[in-house]
Amino acid sequence: MNEVLNIADQTLILHRHPRRKNETFQAWDSADEYLINHFNDSELGQYITDDGQLLIINDGFGALSCYFKDFERTVVSDSFLSVGSIKLNMQRNRCGPESLLIQDSLQSLPTNAKVVLIKVPKTLSFLEYQLQQLSAVISDDTIVVAAGKVDAIHKSTLALFEKYIGTTKTSLAKKKSRLIFSLVDQREIAETEIATTWDIERQGWTIHNHANVFSRNHLDIGGRYLMDNLPEGDFTKVIDLGCGNGVVGMAAAEAYPNAQITFIDESYMAVDSARINMLKNFEEERSDNTRFVVNNGLVGFKGRSYDLILCNPPFHQQHTITDHIAWSMFNDAHFCLAVNGELVIVGNRHLDYQDKLERIFGNCELIAENKKFVILHAVKME
Ligand code: SAM
Repeated sequence: MNEVLNIADQTLILHRHPRRKNETFQAWDSADEYLINHFNDSELGQYITDDGQLLIINDGFGALSCYFKDFERTVVSDSFLSVGSIKLNMQRNRCGPESLLIQDSLQSLPTNAKVVLIKVPKTLSFLEYQLQQLSAVISDDTIVVAAGKVDAIHKSTLALFEKYIGTTKTSLAKKKSRLIFSLVDQREIAETEIATTWDIERQGWTIHNHANVFSRNHLDIGGRYLMDNLPEGDFTKVIDLGCGNGVVGMAAAEAYPNAQITFIDESYMAVDSARINMLKNFEEERSDNTRFVVNNGLVGFKGRSYDLILCNPPFHQQHTITDHIAWSMFNDAHFCLAVNGELVIVGNRHLDYQDKLERIFGNCELIAENKKFVILHAVKME
């Protein structure tokens, strides 16, 4: 795996965090390279005056944060893993942290950005939220350039730039990436509500979803299947691992009234939606016995401490399809469960999580299945 990015006048060593032994994915892509080269060729640095700054939105793993180390800059991300990668890659490349502010996507954007570089995110609703935020803080002389893989830029993507920023055109494709240039000439500052709410009738819950939350327009059918197949027991410490909007943990809060429920996700927006959903749909005393943690899986959590972990694992990291996060979640769960503690997961039939769980736990039972999903149950033995 190539970890050395030689670009323009700089050589950067970049890793995806957490670093894996046989990493197959690079920590930057051709869209990062295209943005950096364009910035240099067009001498965009000259527009970043003393009272202004560079705003970087959705830096994946730190290539942009590191490359632009000589500028005062703010980096915005909804991903705990991205933020961790940015921090570590900054250290590795000896970029002092003084001129960099990292913030999550729920915070307000700075009002003095002179140049804005955007990596187009996976979901359109999240892009819309970010462009809406941006339209409220930029001025007519702000330069806005976005980049993404050709297959992630559609007419609907460009329509959002037209709507919230102004006249938009695209570059030629290079190494399967494209740039988007928007002039700030006709932005619409009017706010439309990007967060969604919908009801789960059976439970009588109203579910709030920030723009970047998994399955934001409906209950995920995998999540629903897990909610319908919770194990019986007198559990006291339960984790909803990869909680998204929190529906699985909420079902656990209902099924085990005395249990402390910990909701964990690497998306700041997901954890905040789960917090809102517990607050809105449960009595105060019940929602008091809950914790909400933005984290990479269970890294840093105490071993042998929980008696039930529920998980509907992800199979994407940003634009990449991968099962390595599921793997590490199952390993984390094994470490954090008390002896006789249980892990219950839902997965697409074809993903073969059964084999992984058997290897980690030494046991795995199929407790329910339908045409699409399986529910698997593993017990920590010692
Ligand atoms: N539990 C929710 C449901 O059933 O609707 C969401 C499940 S979704 C398939 C997987 C979730 O895992 C996403 O919300 C994603 O943000 C989260 N996730 C991805 N990588 C993670 C990581 N390293 N640590 C914690 N959560 C992660």
